[in-house]
Amino acid sequence: PVEVETEGIRDDGSRFAARIYAYPNFDLDGNVIGFIEVVEDITERKQAEEALKEAMAFNESTLNAIDDIFYTFDLSGKMLIWNKAVSRVTGYSDTELSSKKPTDFFLGEDVQHISESIERMWKEGSSKAEANLVLKDGRQVSYEFTGSILKDSKGNIIGFSGIGRDLTERKRVEEMLQKSELKYRQLIEQAPDTIFVVDGEGNLLHVNLAGQKMLGYSEDELCKMTTVDTYPLDEMAAAHRRVMEMRAMRAGEIMHFERQMRRKNGTLFPVEISVGALKDGTTHGIIRDITDRKQAEESLRQLTHQHQLILNAAGEGIVGLDLEGKITFANPFVIGTTGYSVDELIGQNLHKLVHYKKPDGTPYPYEECPSYETLKNSIPNNIRDEIFFKKDGTSFPVRYTSTPIIEEGIIKGAVVTFRDITERKRLEEQFLQAQKMEAVGHLAGGVAHDFNNILTAIIGYGNLLQMKIKEDDPLKAYVNQILLSSEKAANLTSGLLAFSRKQIINPKPVNLNDIVKNVEKLLLRLIGEDIELKTILNPPTPPFGKGGQGGIGDLVVMADSGQIEQVLMNLATNARDAMPEGGTLTISTEIVELDREYIRTSGYGKPGKHALISVTDTGKGMDEKTKELIFEPFFTTKERERGTGLGLAVVYGIVKQHNGNIDVYSELDKGTTFRIYLPIIEAEIEETKPKVITTPIGGKETVLIAEDNIDVRNYTKTVLEDFGYKVIEAVNGEDAINKFMENKDIIEFLVLDVIMPKKNGKEVYDAIKKVRPDIKALFMSGYAEDIIHGKGILEEGLNFVLKPISPQELLKLIREILET
Ligand code: ADP
Ligand code: MG
Repeated sequence: PVEVETEGIRDDGSRFAARIYAYPNFDLDGNVIGFIEVVEDITERKQAEEALKEAMAFNESTLNAIDDIFYTFDLSGKMLIWNKAVSRVTGYSDTELSSKKPTDFFLGEDVQHISESIERMWKEGSSKAEANLVLKDGRQVSYEFTGSILKDSKGNIIGFSGIGRDLTERKRVEEMLQKSELKYRQLIEQAPDTIFVVDGEGNLLHVNLAGQKMLGYSEDELCKMTTVDTYPLDEMAAAHRRVMEMRAMRAGEIMHFERQMRRKNGTLFPVEISVGALKDGTTHGIIRDITDRKQAEESLRQLTHQHQLILNAAGEGIVGLDLEGKITFANPFVIGTTGYSVDELIGQNLHKLVHYKKPDGTPYPYEECPSYETLKNSIPNNIRDEIFFKKDGTSFPVRYTSTPIIEEGIIKGAVVTFRDITERKRLEEQFLQAQKMEAVGHLAGGVAHDFNNILTAIIGYGNLLQMKIKEDDPLKAYVNQILLSSEKAANLTSGLLAFSRKQIINPKPVNLNDIVKNVEKLLLRLIGEDIELKTILNPPTPPFGKGGQGGIGDLVVMADSGQIEQVLMNLATNARDAMPEGGTLTISTEIVELDREYIRTSGYGKPGKHALISVTDTGKGMDEKTKELIFEPFFTTKERERGTGLGLAVVYGIVKQHNGNIDVYSELDKGTTFRIYLPIIEAEIEETKPKVITTPIGGKETVLIAEDNIDVRNYTKTVLEDFGYKVIEAVNGEDAINKFMENKDIIEFLVLDVIMPKKNGKEVYDAIKKVRPDIKALFMSGYAEDIIHGKGILEEGLNFVLKPISPQELLKLIREILET
């Protein structure tokens, strides 16, 4: 068929728009025998088309520019106008498109779908549909179509127009969104932490699986709860406050906090919560159970605390060093001993701070420091004795250890520990000093003992000579001189014996105050008129009438009064010498309780009550060097004639022999205080019986003399025989017993040397006593109070005499003993 649009002319001459369809006319054999022509009046359609074209003309270019397809169909379903996108998208040419109907672009269900949408449009004026647009090459593209009816100026419907939008991209995005939403949903559900959503009132909208497990509620239960229900029962106020706070959050704001959470079963546990507010007024959050973290934190805190306590309590300095030797850590001991603050220590080189110089003041290069060696060569436990200097410049001795800190085989620094060894050094010195005194004592004692025996003979014979020589003999002056010198020698040896504690002492319970009072007169005479003597006795002795007896709590000590008097005399003599221009000498007594500190620093004594005698002068004092040496025998700072150097040695020996202690405090040009501590005993003071003094005369009795030293023996024998006694000699202990047995009926008295070969004096005495219980004896000794003590001579109240002994004294004693 042929179709032509043309202009027709009616009979009346008017013109109209016409479309002529011409069909060939066939005969039965199929030959063309003519044409059938159909003329259609399309005036109206043409007019509408014109109107449309007119209406569209202004935005044709706009339409062509857009990516969406634009199209118009007339009422017959013919596509009239379309933009360039239509052919670009579908692939059809404009000619092809001009004969397309709306449904021609779809397949299957979409055809029906589109037809329905068009129907709807006719009724409602517009409609929307999604369908797959079928392209010329058969591909299908998802499109959204929006159609609306077109009317002419008179309001007649003339067709419809539509816009098609490619949905491929949107679909893809939607799909992606869906997928990601699913992903996030899974993520939320499977998250190990609790994730929740609450509304502005605190109502729980969603709680993920982890949250359900954590709290012990089901999803349904949770959805009926509010956040307040998960607070501890006693924290309701805080819970409500928190809801308010969360409600007040602006979108995008985030808040972190920790709190206690309550499970369905009532148990509580700590959580850490982060919440963020969304635009819709809901709050989303993550809750993490921090029980483990809190426990770990707590254990760590405790551990750190413990370490801190240990470090604080350590009686050692502990210092951490980095590789350069700089301090990274220091415990309180370091601060206490060095005087530096933490701030002054940290970051400083320990070596340059505390032992930058050697004890003698010469520089101490860091390269020679143990910590340097440790850091450089990883030397473990590098121990050395060093001197540390404090901030104030003073120093103290330390035992220094440096140990490398090695982590995974790499040296990271070092730990230095140090101990203050002042105390140890002091004890060592104390010990050495004691040892020295002991050694000197032995030596002095040994010499004095032998010398005493010799002196006994010299003085003895000297005395005999003096007694027998005629008054007018010119030689008498010589004898006197010999005896005078011998006397001095005897004084010397007795001093040495006192120092070496080999002197025989006769201790009894005595009140120290009594001794001071007794010796006061003597002291006054000794110190002279320029020096004032003050005595402060405390506690005062009981009032007169109670016999001057001291009881418990008084200054009763076990002492040999004579010896203590000697001590006071020696100290007073020194005080006098120290105050040539006069001054004050103060002697005071008191009861003191020795504390551990005194015992620790002095190395003396047991805790408990002690009598303390202090002797203080206001003299010239002494320097440190002198102070160290004063107790040594023969140490003196005085010129030859004045000082023997034995005064304090004797004092020392006597005090030690009385189980006491002496210390000295002195300041140059200010004065000196000597303090003597003696253990207080709980005992009654013995009343001393006045002795019956008889004149030194001889006797007729037979005396056994046992003495190993031939000089002393001969001398004693001579004296006794000269004064009428009969003498039997024995040269040692066994000999003495034998001689006694041979003459047991005639021997009436024994003179026994204490220390003899074979058997000592006491053993001899005991053996003889078995035979003759009433036998009387005199022991002689110049030595070894400890042996005498051990043998019980003093304890049993036996008579003894210290060598050397003058003839008068010997004779007098023997008479006294025989007659009591
Ligand atoms: P001497 O008195 O014979 O020198 P000591 O043993 O009594 O011997 O004393 C030794 C030294 O101790 C004295 O030479 C003196 O230097 C010093 N000294 C003792 N007592 C005092 C004192 N009270 N004040 C000052 N120095 C003293
Ligand atoms: Mg003296």
